Amino acid sequence: MLALTALPRMAFAARNSLRSLRTGVQPGGKTRLVIETATRPSYSLSYPTNQLIVTLSNTAANTGISPKLASGTLVKSLAQAQAGDTLQIIVNLNKPIAQVPKSNILLLEPNGDNDYRLVLDFVAGTPGATSATAATATAQSSKKTTAPTKKYVIVVDAGHGGKDPGCIGKGGTREKDVVLSVARKLKKQLDANGFQTHLTRAGDTYLKLAERAAIAERKKADLFISLHANANPSRAMKGFSIYTLSEKASDEEAKKLAEAENAADKIGVEGFTEFEENIRIALSSLQQHAVAEMSEEYATGAARAFKNKSITQQPGPDVRHAPFAVLRSTVPGALLELGHLSNSSEEKLLKTSAHQDKLVAAIVKSVKNYNFDV
Ligand SMILES: [Zn+2]
Repeated sequence: MLALTALPRMAFAARNSLRSLRTGVQPGGKTRLVIETATRPSYSLSYPTNQLIVTLSNTAANTGISPKLASGTLVKSLAQAQAGDTLQIIVNLNKPIAQVPKSNILLLEPNGDNDYRLVLDFVAGTPGATSATAATATAQSSKKTTAPTKKYVIVVDAGHGGKDPGCIGKGGTREKDVVLSVARKLKKQLDANGFQTHLTRAGDTYLKLAERAAIAERKKADLFISLHANANPSRAMKGFSIYTLSEKASDEEAKKLAEAENAADKIGVEGFTEFEENIRIALSSLQQHAVAEMSEEYATGAARAFKNKSITQQPGPDVRHAPFAVLRSTVPGALLELGHLSNSSEEKLLKTSAHQDKLVAAIVKSVKNYNFDV
């Protein structure tokens, strides 16, 4: 079914164009919708009654295609509606669906015969609820008016620990102690704000970097936050800095930092190649791009939250990139360098409970502002 609103010819020149539309069934009874476009799509989702609308900006409709609809999905029909240079894919549903969580949205790069593909997996439920089970429970209990919402899982990683002290300030403050103290406070506050928080280490223990990433995988975390404190050859250098994973460092300083943080593993007896290899295979297939985008979004918001709390920022860009081993997983996340232990005034500050609380408040804000669902 194709409903195309009249569009004046030559009225706009959309950069992107629709190539194909198809649906399928995924394990767990999920419906999959695939929207194929010529270039990388920029999209938003809305949920009118019994519909899902995918709005693609700067995209031209394509009246020449007929959607391929698989049987047994929640999709009754698909339609296109053009308004200016915005294209809406209107998904008419057999049943209401739960809001599509970000983890169920993939943006795939072109490969073989395929162009860019926006892939959405969804289940029946009440809009606003994020799991089919939660939605069913609500539907059966007529007295309840609000749908129970999923608790997002956050894994907080206090860097270093045990035989690895991390960097040490002139006053003897050890990175591993500062970040553990902040991590414990952070878990308390995140839990109080309705998140389900796990620590990679709750005490002064040594953990390999791959093990930290593996904990995030095992806990099926929605977000991974690795806490560190910095040291710089220049004792005048101070301020926080925020990093996401990239195989190529954004600058020389970021590269050096990643090397220093990754060196923690050289203390361990075994390497982490096997886990890394598994992750690389998993990531190369589908999610790499989606994870990177979500991490970038979180990191940008985190930098904003720190600045809003007037926490000193290290000169440079809000978000930097480097090949941090601890961030190699399928979980979006960032590495936060909370400040410089090599700077004597910041070393004193990082030890105080008041400043740690301020850091925790900024991180909690960044998690609350992060858009887990689209
Ligand atoms: Zn560190």
